[in-house]
Amino acid sequence: MRRVSIFGATGSIGQNTIDLIARAPEDYHVVALTGASNIKLLAADAIRLKAEVAVTAHEHLLPDLRTSLAGSGVEAQAGGQAIIEAAARPADWIMSAIVGAAGLAPGLQALKQGTTLALANKESLVCAGALMLETAKTHNARLLPVDSEHSAVFQALVGEDMAAVERVIITASGGAFRDWPVENLAQATLDQASSHPNWDMGQRITIDSASMFNKAMELIETREYFGVRPDQIEVLVHPESIIHALVGFSDGALMAHVGPPDMRHAIGYALHWPSRRALPVERLDLAQVATLSFRAPCDTRWPALRLAREVMESGGLAGAVFNASKETALDGFIAGEIGFNEMAMIVEEVLGIMSDTPNHIDATMTLDNVAQVDHLARQESRRVIQKRAG
Ligand code: NDP
Ligand code: MG
Repeated sequence: MRRVSIFGATGSIGQNTIDLIARAPEDYHVVALTGASNIKLLAADAIRLKAEVAVTAHEHLLPDLRTSLAGSGVEAQAGGQAIIEAAARPADWIMSAIVGAAGLAPGLQALKQGTTLALANKESLVCAGALMLETAKTHNARLLPVDSEHSAVFQALVGEDMAAVERVIITASGGAFRDWPVENLAQATLDQASSHPNWDMGQRITIDSASMFNKAMELIETREYFGVRPDQIEVLVHPESIIHALVGFSDGALMAHVGPPDMRHAIGYALHWPSRRALPVERLDLAQVATLSFRAPCDTRWPALRLAREVMESGGLAGAVFNASKETALDGFIAGEIGFNEMAMIVEEVLGIMSDTPNHIDATMTLDNVAQVDHLARQESRRVIQKRAG
């Protein structure tokens, strides 16, 4: 029986992971499930899957969690520290699917037990890629990509020599506004930004798809995970979301990963790796799909892509600033304080301010320094948002 834990169990990735595990309960012993606000779902899944412990990030919700778990034998815990402790509980496979920078510390803790960490939380690699990879290496842990594009690249590279890789192409659907006139984007509403043409995902990543901040994060994630240079990574707009990534080799061959837009494929691949097992995803009928289309991304429509390239150029802790200001700007957009286009403007302004302040972006990449830069970048972003709003 494999011992598994799921961080961010109540979210979109977490629920898809549970869907796969619950189909073969005899194969898994569930160690920890974590969530934040959705106590009912967290408790119901913890009871159904007979988890050892259920943890909510919010300490004030501990009484609710205890009540929901009463008599079940599942332990109830709460708070950020409790989530990190849950990541230290021995498990053979751990899903990192908390949203945002909050996923970094539990992910690092999980790696320290030398386990396999299935990484959906791309923010960990954006904020602290070198630290994640070094921690994995030191503790003999394995990091498996769950982001669909990165899982696709990983699969296209099986048996290949990295020295023969010329380029990596990650595709982007273009999100909710890919066909909007650019001048209308400033008026885009929260509802409009929260609906994705192809993928069913959490609200934050759906808005990040419309702004291309998601792909911008994935550019950095690609560089960190596969160790390729920024100029080897391309973004290709592909509205059908059928090809998830392509790898170009020195002999001119392009290996494409083709599949339905269903995260259970990438999650299942990471769950069963290095084998393949049957998964409950649609089998594509390409004759039915008929046409696949592609176009180059436009930097005017999606300034986030340019910003990600600047962040990769800066290196150091620029990724932590980028992520923190993006998360804060996204909060501002969700709260109705700023318009859709202002998210990128705020991130750009904060990157400028923070790179002018010595010792931030150049600090050594430790969890403490990343947390400090993250905190300062959020403060700075709030200040810029208030200035704009007010
Ligand atoms: P969701 O918003 O659907 O879920 C987020 C999860 O994190 C929930 O379990 C939520 O708990 C929990 N959570 C929220 N805040 C905190 C916090 N401060 N501390 C601890 N836990 C917290 O997100 P997704 O599932 O969409 O995304 C998860 C990660 O996977 C992200 O990094 C995203 O970029 C990445 N990803 C997602 C894809 C997708 O298809 N959804 C595709 C590729 C990558 P609760 O709901 O109980 O409040
Ligand atoms: Mg992705």
